[in-house]
This record gives sequence, C-alpha cells and structure tokens, in this order.
Amino acid sequence: MTRTIVAYKALPPDVDAWLRERADVIDVDPKDHAAFVAALQRADGAIGASVKISADMLDGATRLKAFSTISVGFDQFDVADLTRRGIVLTHTPDVLTESTADTVFALILSSARRVVELADWVREGHWKGSIGEDCFGVDVQGKTLGIVGLGRIGGAVARRAALGFRMNVLYTNRSPNEQAERDYGARRVELDELLAQADFVCLQVPLTPETRGMIGAAELRKMKRSAILINASRGPTVDEAALIDALRDGTIRGAGLDVFEHEPLAADSPLLAMKNVVALPHIGSATHETRHAMARNAAENLIGALDGTLTQNIVNRDVLTR
Ligand code: NAP
Repeated sequence: MTRTIVAYKALPPDVDAWLRERADVIDVDPKDHAAFVAALQRADGAIGASVKISADMLDGATRLKAFSTISVGFDQFDVADLTRRGIVLTHTPDVLTESTADTVFALILSSARRVVELADWVREGHWKGSIGEDCFGVDVQGKTLGIVGLGRIGGAVARRAALGFRMNVLYTNRSPNEQAERDYGARRVELDELLAQADFVCLQVPLTPETRGMIGAAELRKMKRSAILINASRGPTVDEAALIDALRDGTIRGAGLDVFEHEPLAADSPLLAMKNVVALPHIGSATHETRHAMARNAAENLIGALDGTLTQNIVNRDVLTR
C-alpha cells in the first residue's frame, strides 16, 4: 500500500532515503503555508519541527494518521485536538538529553565566568596586561543549582552538577524524582525556596499553560541578587520584559538564554546590549550527532505509528485506545 508523508523540515540524506523506501515523501517549505496545508490534505503522516500546527491546518487532512515532531517538546501542537482527530503525535525524548544538558552547562559556565563577553573583549584588542578584578567572574563548583523541572534533561544537568562540579542540587517538580535524590543528592523544595537559595536557577520544564510565564517579576525578585537565570526550556516560561528589567536593575546578576519569547530574537532586543546576558540561537540539541539521531528516531516513530507497531515516544497514547 502506498502512503504519503509530508516532510516539512530537511532530513539527513540517509534518513530521507530510509523514509522514501517506505513511503512517498512530499517535501514542503512550511513558510509556504498554503502549500503545506494542501500537502497535509494528501498525507497519511507528517514529519518536521519548529512550526506551530494549528487546528485549522488539519481540517481537510482527513487521511492524516500520525505527526512526528523532531523534538522532545510538543508545545507547537494542540494535543487534545490531534487526539480528537485520531492523529498519533510522536516525539524524540532521550536521544537529545545529553547534548541539551551540555548546552545548559555551557550557559552556566559561560554566564558565571563571562566567557563570551571576555572572549569578545580579547578579540577587540583590549587585553593589554594582566587582568584585574573587572574581568573576574563567579565560581560554579560548590554552588547551589536550582532546577525547575527535573526530568530527563534536568536529571542530566543534575548529574553534571553534583558529580562533576560538586554542586548542591535543589529542584521543583510536581512529583519527586527519586533517582536524582538518591544518585545526585537532589532535594525537592517549593519554588520560592529554590529561588531564594539557588545561585543558578535553571528552567527545564515543558511549555504548558501552567509553566507559561512561571518566572515573572515577582519570582525574579525572590532570587539572590548574585544569582544567574538559565533558560533552555522554552522562551515563554519566562516573562521576557520582566527579565530585561531585572537584568537592567541588578535584581539578578545575569542570564544564560537558549530560548526566547519570539525566535529568532530581534537584533534590537535589549538583551543583546547587555554584557551580563549570554544569548544562543536555540542550540540545545544542535550537534551533528544528536540532530541526526533525532531525525532518524522521528522517521522510525512515524513509520512505526503508521504501521501500528510503535510502543514508545507517543505523546497522546490515549488516541490508540479510543
Ligand atoms: P521531561 O523529562 O518531561 O521533564 C520535564 C520536567 O518538568 C519533569 O520532571 C516534570 O515533572 C516537570 N514539570 C512539568 N510540568 C511542571 C510544572 N507545571 N511545574 C513544575 N515542574 C513541572 O522533559 P525533558 O526531556 O527533560 O525536556 C524538557 C523540556 O526541555 C522540553 O519540553 C523542551 O521544551 C525543552 N527542550 C529544549 C531544548 C532546546 O533546544 N533548548 C532541547 C530539548 C528540550 P512533573 O511531571 O513531576 O512535574
């Protein structure tokens, strides 16, 4: 039986070839919205990432049985609507956990030790003699790390922090993470206590109605003035205007950000004029190895979902039992 798949993101050649052995593949540029919607109407499955999929885009897509996002986060989808339509949504947890945790640690280290700011300073020719206090940063090792959302990625960050940097780890979750408590000495506390005690507050929650804007002006005021906020979750978990004010006013020391309210970040964002901000272009999982593994995983998820053989990486498992 021939089936049709819409690919709305470029896939590595070997993954693309693997899919084409199993289905007809239509490549679309999602910026061409009309072509994307038209292709979905002919498709049994779709694979891609980083595009908001609204309910109205699926109204004519009556053949569609599975959507495979090349990401762990699925905030681009209305999951309840997909379930109502009988469309399986799959995602790619685990394969990106370690490289994303590396990105989080890169943000922690570069913010604390001012790596980006000082590398720019050297490049600009300012290094004329032995450096003074004005180039000092703050320690990472031995400090307290507060992880808001200690799941897969948060757990990999906690491991680096506790075992590699001898940090104390605090966390908030709706349910305890017993493995992190046992293996990394992580302690579950209320958000207010985490904000008050942590030297680094690191967000790793999914974007949901509950987590949207969970760090706003009031929460930033509860942080230590010496603390650094790290966000590699999704931009809207933080009230960006409040963060800009807090950084300007010295309410907190700095921020390491991989994600923003609007991406790409506007070139005139006040965040880019602040030396105490490290801003990255959403590179959490962006290594050659990990992005390849994610694409392969997403392709396998899609074919497995269409074949009815997939048992894991399913976001809306209830669709299978309707
Ligand atoms: P995960 O394993 O599901 O972990 C998420 C954690 O957040 C869980 O421990 C969960 O615990 C907690 N949580 C959920 N809702 C919460 C709430 N309302 N209050 C407090 N804690 C809450 O997911 P993951 O694989 O670690 O990925 C986490 C997120 O990272 C993804 O959803 C994605 O948005 C983001 N991400 C970003 C990048 C990037 O490029 N920057 C890359 C990969 C992932 P409870 O359920 O017990 O609350």
